This record gives sequence, structure tokens and C-alpha cells, in this order.
Amino acid sequence: MDRISNLDRAIRQTTARIQFNINWYVQYTNSMTRNFDILIIGGGILGTSISYFLSHLNKSRSIGVVEQSEGVAFHTSGRNTGKVHAPYLYNPEKKKLFANAAFHGYEMWEEYARLKKLPFKKDGVIEVALDCKGIRVLEKYLKWARQNGLEDSDIELMDRNEIKRVEPEIQCESALYIHRDSSVDYSKFTESLMSDSKNNGTQTLMKSRVTEIKKEGTAWKIVLNHEKEVLTKFLINAAGGESIDIAHDVGLGKGLTDVHFRGEYWKAPKEYNSLTKTSIYSVPEFPDYPFLDPHWIIRVDGSCEIGPNAVPVFSPYGYNRTENLKEFLPKMLEMLGSGARKAVFDKQFQQLAINEIQSSMSKSAMVKRVRRFLPKIDPEKFLEKGAAGIRSSVINEDGKFLPDVILLNNESSFHILNYNSPGATGALAFSAHIVNKINDSGLLKSEDLNAECGPWKFSDIIEKLKE
Ligand SMILES: Cc1cc2nc3c(=O)[nH]c(=O)nc-3n(C[C@H](O)[C@H](O)[C@H](O)COP(=O)(O)OP(=O)(O)OC[C@H]3O[C@@H](n4cnc5c(N)ncnc54)[C@H](O)[C@@H]3O)c2cc1C
Repeated sequence: MDRISNLDRAIRQTTARIQFNINWYVQYTNSMTRNFDILIIGGGILGTSISYFLSHLNKSRSIGVVEQSEGVAFHTSGRNTGKVHAPYLYNPEKKKLFANAAFHGYEMWEEYARLKKLPFKKDGVIEVALDCKGIRVLEKYLKWARQNGLEDSDIELMDRNEIKRVEPEIQCESALYIHRDSSVDYSKFTESLMSDSKNNGTQTLMKSRVTEIKKEGTAWKIVLNHEKEVLTKFLINAAGGESIDIAHDVGLGKGLTDVHFRGEYWKAPKEYNSLTKTSIYSVPEFPDYPFLDPHWIIRVDGSCEIGPNAVPVFSPYGYNRTENLKEFLPKMLEMLGSGARKAVFDKQFQQLAINEIQSSMSKSAMVKRVRRFLPKIDPEKFLEKGAAGIRSSVINEDGKFLPDVILLNNESSFHILNYNSPGATGALAFSAHIVNKINDSGLLKSEDLNAECGPWKFSDIIEKLKE
């Protein structure tokens, strides 16, 4: 008996000693300043895709991704409509880069999904016009689609009778049937890319909010959660709704500000799951604000939703009242002291904002907008909200919303601002472009531009993007 209790005591003491050493080691490593060659702020689909390519091209460099949430794709990247879009909405002259990224992004996601056995449902999208003005817009979209690389088999213009034969419940004057459009789960794509990136040595610093950025010699000292510090030689800002603030912290983009819009969804009852075979979008009523018109959405799992609307909120994380109240005053002061002031006092913007706030307060207001082209749906049957996602749109000093992505840099940092729809579709292709741009400009030369990056050779992607 005595021998057993002695043994028991010895085991307990040894275990306690090991535990003490582990705790000490964890505290010690936590207090050490970690050094990176490249640090990316933001574990959304963009930051993760950038880390994916950089980690394949730079095997001997230390790469880190800082993310304040507990996982990747926690914000917009995991809270969107989940469509891999064909580039038919983008003027090839004004949004050439975005259109090109979406075009090649489609093929890349399809290939990646096949390789990783992730769902990629080729279910198409129908864009409807409800009047003559809308038909002219559809004709313009068809022209843009062809200029952006789509073929006749990818997209077709139909009159009201032709569309009725395909989708009997739709009511419209004319429609564009985009066959080259698919449904996916972007959270799963981002998680999978991050896992690949980590296999290449990328370190992730989760639950780590960047609270301060300082220059230390030629490096950046990044303060996390007000206490821990990391050093990096090169900084990449892919911080979504906070990317402007990070750019301001390093002295860039001072004349720019942003406005946040919460896109809300309502889940449709199961009985509507077979109402249409395809998701339905409508021609935007206000071309300057193309993100305002809610759609009929079929998700990758076959469930249906309507949304998103675009309710002005005061924070990139303004999902609820508490966060919005907390951020109301600082955001208002920031807006009134910037170009956003002009947008806020613009009559059309004010009217639209009021409409959107109404659609947030009243579910029927949102359902009514979808009923214009899908009259069968009944507002009473929408009982549950879906997950809202927040879009941050950049405004310049003249109070104008900037339509395109904004790229800024200094000698040791690169910043991606205003990375909006269809940002998830284009994330892989766009990230490859960014990594190449940083390389070509001499800011950060990658070690091997011919490296294989999963199913692609990096240099081949870049050649394709130039086509
Ligand atoms: C309602 C809605 C629907 C959409 N639907 C589609 C669609 O169907 N198809 C499509 O292709 N695109 C769609 N988009 C666009 C697409 O989702 C976005 O373009 C894309 O997700 C942006 O990715 P991101 O990585 O730049 O941003 P995010 O996903 O927002 O990632 C940025 C990350 O940075 C982190 N971060 C920010 N600041 C800090 C800090 N200080 N410290 C640490 N971490 C920080 C955040 O926590 C966040 O995780 C939609 C967008 C919205 C709003």
C-alpha cells in the first residue's frame, strides 16, 4: 500500500514539475518578440490567399498572418452570398483588373475545389430587367461579359417568354442567364487555403488584434492586443473593413475614409427550396450604388435566402446595436472631418440610406423588393435571419464612392483597400497579381516565381492574367 502511495506521490510531483516547465516555456515564448520577414494583417480570403502564394514562393522566409478573430474568414469572407461570379457587371475599361481576376478566379476555384473535394455547384445566376431601361442595362452587361472573356455558351439574353419556360415563377421583361456562375462556401475555401499555407510554414497569430504600428529602424513593430510585440521587415495590409485605418497608421491614404454597410439576409422556408433552380439578381435601380438590390439566393447546400440589403452602420463589425452605439460618435466625427461629409449630405444618399434602414427594420420591406420579380414569396413565411456581412466602401475627398480597389505602398508595406464584390471570386487570381506586383516593383523580391503553388505554376497564372 505504502509503495503504491509513494509511487503515486512521485508521479504527481513529476507531473507538476512538467506542467510548471510547460507554463514557464509558454510565458517565455509569449514574452519574446517574434520576427517575421513578411507579416500579413487579416485572415480573410484575401490575406489568406496572399499568404498561400507567398509561402509557396518563399520557402526560406518567415511569414505570419495576424487575425483578431479565433478563425479565418470570420468576417466578410465567411458572411457573403457565396457566389463565384462571372464578370458581366464590370466595365472592362474601368474595372479591368477586377473583371480579369473574377474571370480567372472562377477557373481557379473550380480547380481548387476539385483537388480538395470541396463543393462547387455550377447552378448559374439569372439577372432580370423589370422595365425597358433595365433591358438596355442587360444589353450593356452582355457586351461587357463578352469583352471580359465570356463565351456565348456562358451567358445568354432571353426575352420574358424564354425565361418563363426555364423558370416559370420569375416575372420580368427580359433576363440574362449566366451559366458560368457557381455556389460555394468561401469559409471552407479560406480554411483549406490557410491549412495549405501553414503546411508551407506560415505562422498564424489568431485572437491577435493589431493595436499599434510603429517604425523601428527599417522594420515595423506591430503591437498586438496592446501588449505583445512582433517585428516584421515587410507588412501587407489585407484588413478588410479596417484596411483604411491601418493605411492611415503608416501615413498612407490620409484623404480617404470609408462607410460601412451591413448586408442582411432572411432565410426562406424549406417549402421555397424548389421555387427556382437558379439564384436571381435584378438590375440595380441606382447604378452608383449597385450593392443595394437584394437577390433571391440559392446557397450551396440548396437552402434559399433573400438579401443582402445595405444598411449604413458605424463599424466594420456593426452586426448589433451595442457595437454600433459604441462606434457611433468616433465614426461620425471621422466622417464629418472627411470627404464622407459630402456623401452624408447628398440627397440621393440620404434617401437610399433611409430606405435601407427601413428594410432593416421591416422584413416585409426587403421581401417586397424581391417580390417584384418573384411574386410568389410571402413575407410572413420568412422567420429567421441569416448571417449578415459588412461591406466597407471607400470615399475620396470629394465625397465620391470609389468603384475600384485601391493599392497603396511605401518602401516596406503594401495596402489593399476597398476590396469589395466580387472579391471572394477573384481572391486567388488577385492575390497572385498582388504578389507579382510587389515583386516587380522591387519592394519584395520572391525567391522562386516558377514555384508550383498547389495545382498551378505561379508564372503561368501571371501569364494568364496578362491575356
Ligand atoms: C453582403 C456581401 C455579400 C457578398 N457576396 C459575394 C459573393 O457572392 N461573391 C463574391 O465573390 N464576393 C462577395 N462579396 C465580397 C467578398 O465577400 C469580399 O470582397 C471579401 O470577402 C473581402 O475579403 P477580405 O479578406 O478583404 O476581407 P475580410 O473577410 O473582412 O477579412 C479581413 C480580416 O482582417 C481582420 N482584421 C481587420 N483589422 C484587424 C486588426 N486590426 N488586427 C487583426 N485583424 C484584423 C478581420 O478580423 C478580418 O477577418 C460580398 C460582400 C458582402 C458584404
